[in-house]
Amino acid sequence: MLPSFTIPYPLSLRSILEMVSPDIPRGSRMLHWNKSFAEELGSMDARTILAALEPESRGTFYATRYGGHQFGGWSGQLGDGRAMMIGEVEGQASKWEVQLKGAGRTPFSRFGDGRAVLRSSLREYVCAEAMAHLRIPTTRSLGLLQTPDRVKRDMFYNGNVNHEPGAICIRASRSFIRFGHFELLAQGRDEKTLDALVKYSSELLGVESTNEKDARLHFFCEVTRRTFKMVTDWMRVGFIHAVMNTDNMSILGETIDYGPFSFLDEYTPGWTPNTSDQHARYAFEKQPEIVLWNLGKLAEALSASKEQLQDFLQELYLIDQEGDRDRNVMLLNKLGFSWTSTELRGLVHEWHDILHDLNLDYTLAHVALENFLIGNTMKREETGGLSNTFRNALYRTLSLAELRRLNAWLINYRKALRTSHLNMNDVCVLMRTTNPSYICRNYQLQLAIDDAEKGSTRMLETLMSLTQTPYERNSPQHKTWCTRRPDWAKFKAGASALSCSS
Ligand code: AMP
Ligand code: MG
Repeated sequence: MLPSFTIPYPLSLRSILEMVSPDIPRGSRMLHWNKSFAEELGSMDARTILAALEPESRGTFYATRYGGHQFGGWSGQLGDGRAMMIGEVEGQASKWEVQLKGAGRTPFSRFGDGRAVLRSSLREYVCAEAMAHLRIPTTRSLGLLQTPDRVKRDMFYNGNVNHEPGAICIRASRSFIRFGHFELLAQGRDEKTLDALVKYSSELLGVESTNEKDARLHFFCEVTRRTFKMVTDWMRVGFIHAVMNTDNMSILGETIDYGPFSFLDEYTPGWTPNTSDQHARYAFEKQPEIVLWNLGKLAEALSASKEQLQDFLQELYLIDQEGDRDRNVMLLNKLGFSWTSTELRGLVHEWHDILHDLNLDYTLAHVALENFLIGNTMKREETGGLSNTFRNALYRTLSLAELRRLNAWLINYRKALRTSHLNMNDVCVLMRTTNPSYICRNYQLQLAIDDAEKGSTRMLETLMSLTQTPYERNSPQHKTWCTRRPDWAKFKAGASALSCSS
């Protein structure tokens, strides 16, 4: 273990840990180093990490084991076959656990090679930072290492194996403990370690309990609140995680394990970008319901009896109702309202129907709405004015009937704002802080991947810069990249939909 890194886990958790040694191919190079986040880690230098990875100075790293429910079924022990912890460092405001993802096999790798390809690593690297700047809890990205060897992958699971460039994502979080850690311990009836993990995790979450009996329930309630908050944020920015298995659910309520995710382009609530999810279990609109299901599995793992499970489910039910309310308020915030009522909920409902039926871009339609309020285009909208205001959000030409429908809704919207006597400036400020203009779209990530595979990091740099200011409206860079998905990207592999292969 290098001097600046320590092991975060107490001895009582030793049964979930295994010592591992990373396999970093000679000639690996740092494709990107995230300087601004490195500052939060006490100005960590890329050289510190690279030194830690040198064969002669390599310390002892650790992998943890966990299980999970995948696509609705229990899969037993499945992780972590390719993420290992370098150790914990003291950052500016808190401690951080630093991990390598894709640095070779661990005792939990099963049939996997422990490696990761450049395309999936770059996607995780950029998107985690995009989420952080969108103010959404997430793991963070510290560095992206490209490895010189080739990694064998069947990208479409159709028998066509390719040798792809490999990479290692260096990521950090306060903790990488997932629901699956608890599920696996419960499955093995290891109550002692389960209690130790609840204690360790509760300290991380700042949950205090005076007696052991309530410790698990209090811990569960905090995880539940955080998880619902996270999913509300996902719905706010149109994020689809796409692999919401319980092994991919962080107990900190952070977005974790970025795979075939996507932000919504046109508003298609029943859509998932993950071509491996044939029944669209993890579609955009299903995410709050799936979170509930996943928390039910965590409740089962934590409760020692049927009676206790009832207590957990009762709390889950109450917090779910709060979550529902929060999501309704969030959807109204997106329209500039800071409270809720039955009429306003009706207005939101109609807006979503319009977004869907007119194939509007989820992000850009909300920006257009704000421009509509600022520009006061009310008199012009029957003619070309409306399509002009919404031009950026359109994936096709609207018919006259569709324009009239949009116009009628806008009149009601404007009326609702007027009767509320809201200050228009406050409305726009609320919209500008709730609705991003920049989201990290799959086609842009694919451009960065294509570039990186050819040896250029220019697009990667551009995306890393854009992700820093997702609520900015008018910079030249934003004007270029806050645009809808181009037509060529709709059916290009990775640029819209993609598989789980990573
Ligand atoms: P994922 O769906 O990517 O979160 O993967 C689920 C689990 O499978 C992870 O927790 C890993 O432990 C394991 N896994 C995925 N890919 C590999 C790999 N190439 N080698 C070993 N284990 C892997
Ligand atoms: Mg995972």
